[in-house]
Amino acid sequence: MFDYPGIPDHQIITPSLLRAYHHRSTNNTFIPNGKTIYVAVLLRYSTRESPEPTFTIRKGTHMTEQSGPIFFHVDMDSFYASVEIRERPLLAGKPVVVGADPEGGQGRGVVSTCSYEARSFGIHSGMPISQAYRLCPYATYLPVRMPLYSQVSGNIMALLNRHSTECWQVSIDEAYLVPSGVDDYGAALPVAEKIQHDVVAAEGITCSIGVGPSRVVAKIASGYQKPAGLTIVTPGETARFLAPLPVGKIPGIGGKTAAELQIAGIETIGQLAECDVQQLMEWFGRWGIAMHELSLGRDIRPPRQGGQKSLGREVTFAEDLDDREQVCTAATDLAGILHEHLAARSLRFRTVTLKVRFANFRTITRAFSFPRFTDDPGALQQAVRMLLDAVLTGPKVRLVGIRLSAFDCDESRQTTIGDYL
Ligand SMILES: [Mg+2]
Repeated sequence: MFDYPGIPDHQIITPSLLRAYHHRSTNNTFIPNGKTIYVAVLLRYSTRESPEPTFTIRKGTHMTEQSGPIFFHVDMDSFYASVEIRERPLLAGKPVVVGADPEGGQGRGVVSTCSYEARSFGIHSGMPISQAYRLCPYATYLPVRMPLYSQVSGNIMALLNRHSTECWQVSIDEAYLVPSGVDDYGAALPVAEKIQHDVVAAEGITCSIGVGPSRVVAKIASGYQKPAGLTIVTPGETARFLAPLPVGKIPGIGGKTAAELQIAGIETIGQLAECDVQQLMEWFGRWGIAMHELSLGRDIRPPRQGGQKSLGREVTFAEDLDDREQVCTAATDLAGILHEHLAARSLRFRTVTLKVRFANFRTITRAFSFPRFTDDPGALQQAVRMLLDAVLTGPKVRLVGIRLSAFDCDESRQTTIGDYL
């Protein structure tokens, strides 16, 4: 029961009032008769709609509820675009697209990242740059400056490490962490706010943070209110938080799986959680069991293996190629660059994945795994050629990509920025 006099079930309060709640409740003076304050999902609304951040307090779970570690997921908001805007303050508030050169609508690459203003035109990451150009020709189009983003990312990850007992970087702009000095969900609030403040102060860009009892809940929470969002989901509120969200919010459930689930009448995470595991297993095999676990807010792997560990690059050709040798050369060049990156870090790999997009946009991927770890550049080139031979059967090629994965790295090694170049 949330029955402190004068505070209704749902109340919009300011951060300072919330801090007072927490301070006073943890000091056991806030609630008379030893009663505790019940706080469930804390939502910081987008700074855009409400310049004063506000929180909604819902009846539900004890703020000091604690069972197991508390995870943060920190995700930079439109990272590349934010860094570019920081470098060119006049672009603030304008549609900014980072990616390939649109060449007046004839460009052939894709959008890498875009600002929220550009998103309101329907532009999104991965979209062909020519389509983005049609949607918003007046946006500012900027090339990708990876060395700059790498540097900013490195600074931010170092900052996050200082706030953490453990920290796992999972991409150039995302990390999970177990914050230090956070014993309960009330204490998570000031720490998350401090991180957001410090990132802005140090690097001039914003991030969104999700807090939860598992990495999957923290990740879904960080995406709940972007940009500059802060969403705290306590264990007792997890099911209620997840239930209404579409299944596609679960990491790993893409459009294809979502469409298959929809056929079975499963559209929300709540419906997935209620689904019979046996049934899911029949439909999806082991992935069915995994997605059911995730729908319950439980991680499917221990945190140390949570990070994606692969290294990939791709190139979109200026013109569609029908010359096999040219495609082969491009692919083996990419493989050579990736191999250098790995060799510089003394890493061996087992799996090579080839991606080919044909002129008609049909895209295929083919993978080959060596029986054991290797760092032999000759073997890599051979594998790439073998994979190419199997797929280059005639149509012109628009894009080719190579990805190396299954590294023999020490599990405790932090995934670094280079993994995502
Ligand atoms: Mg991000």
